Amino acid sequence: MSSQQRTADMLSVEEARDRILALVPILEVERRPLLETIGQVLADEIIAPFDIPPMENSAMDGYAVRYEDIRGATASRPRQLSVIGHMAAGQMSDSKVRRGTAIRIMTGATIPSGADTVVPFEETDEKERKAAGRALDHVAVRREVTLGEAVRPRGEDVMKGDLVLPQGAVLRPSELGVLASLGYGQVRVIRRPVIAIVATGDELLEPGQPSSPGKIYDSNSYSVAASVVKYGGTPRLLGIARDTMESMNKKLDEGLAADLLITSAGVSKGDYDMVKDVLAARGEITFWSVRMRPAKPLAFGILHGLDGRKVPHLGLPGNPVSAMVAFEELGRPALLKMLGYTRLSKPTVEAVLEDPIFNNDGRRVYARVIVSKRDDTYHARLSGPQGSNLLTSMARANGLAICPEDVPVMRVGQRVKVRMLDWDAEQL
Ligand code: AMP
Ligand code: MG
Repeated sequence: MSSQQRTADMLSVEEARDRILALVPILEVERRPLLETIGQVLADEIIAPFDIPPMENSAMDGYAVRYEDIRGATASRPRQLSVIGHMAAGQMSDSKVRRGTAIRIMTGATIPSGADTVVPFEETDEKERKAAGRALDHVAVRREVTLGEAVRPRGEDVMKGDLVLPQGAVLRPSELGVLASLGYGQVRVIRRPVIAIVATGDELLEPGQPSSPGKIYDSNSYSVAASVVKYGGTPRLLGIARDTMESMNKKLDEGLAADLLITSAGVSKGDYDMVKDVLAARGEITFWSVRMRPAKPLAFGILHGLDGRKVPHLGLPGNPVSAMVAFEELGRPALLKMLGYTRLSKPTVEAVLEDPIFNNDGRRVYARVIVSKRDDTYHARLSGPQGSNLLTSMARANGLAICPEDVPVMRVGQRVKVRMLDWDAEQL
């Protein structure tokens, strides 16, 4: 078969992603404590039940006064006021600011009735009075501030009845702060998907176990589970299935309680692992060749749970970089869809290549690169050799440079799109 015929049989990354997304549901809504909802999607629109701030309050530490009383004040002609009370943040006062009086007020305290302006301490003689040991029952205002100075109006940020957050908003720290300011201790969100993760292979060892000749440690479970956490899912590590029907079936039984089951390895052509047979027997699973490098062999489909539930299954390739790149491109969108996200793609930047990228068989190449910024331009250099088993070059990379399917080589100096994995302030 020519390489062109072969690539024609392959699915594009987009086709693979769309097929996966078509079979992955948006999950149900649940009520959660506010802090646990970071990164989740809001299920209801949030209408302000009251104004924020709820009362007119002071933006400064100073004196609440009537503007009339301090108009025209200067250092040489200060206005003397008698101080009739003190108010800390959160306090209300029964006293009214009448002509010739002031109330000493702290930031956030409610503006007392009668007052319309706050004069900051710096514009008064309070410091000198204190230094001289004089009573604070009077204060001299030395500068005319503007009417309404340092008074934060009621409802300045939010008015009762405002649409504060739309349904579907992704909750970031600022949204959590807004919800807290509206008094929400809990909030209704689309729940996090539970993602079961199974490694497969007789050669695998659990990290933490003693090493053994001919064996390698299972890294896929950890890189994938960590990605699941990073993007807002709940991983359930089920450990290693051996290359036997029995072991594989046992792990699948456990995995079918999840919202999505991810396995790694055992899906490549010519593999004589049990994985394929077992999967095929337990649902509708298709084995795909995706037009990408790394991560060509992939399995996806629906497995039948014991209780009639249908559980989507994503079978990642075994090689550690392939597993991670396939998760980024195909697992992450599925996870985000379940979480209720509508924007599923990652930000890309355009960078100038400092190493060539070769593409000898018409696949989309995801090259591990280090993106850095110099003279306001992003530059991308390979983070190391690009074998799909070489995980440390993934660890050194902060992005994946994308060489399109039909481009046999991208040369030094050419512009390349880079999907950013991380935005590291040190490098950018
Ligand atoms: P396979 O698809 O089973 O042929 O696996 C492809 C390659 O990935 C082999 O070199 C495996 O040893 C390796 N591999 C499979 N699973 C893992 C894993 N969980 N962690 C690290 N390497 C793995
Ligand atoms: Mg294997």
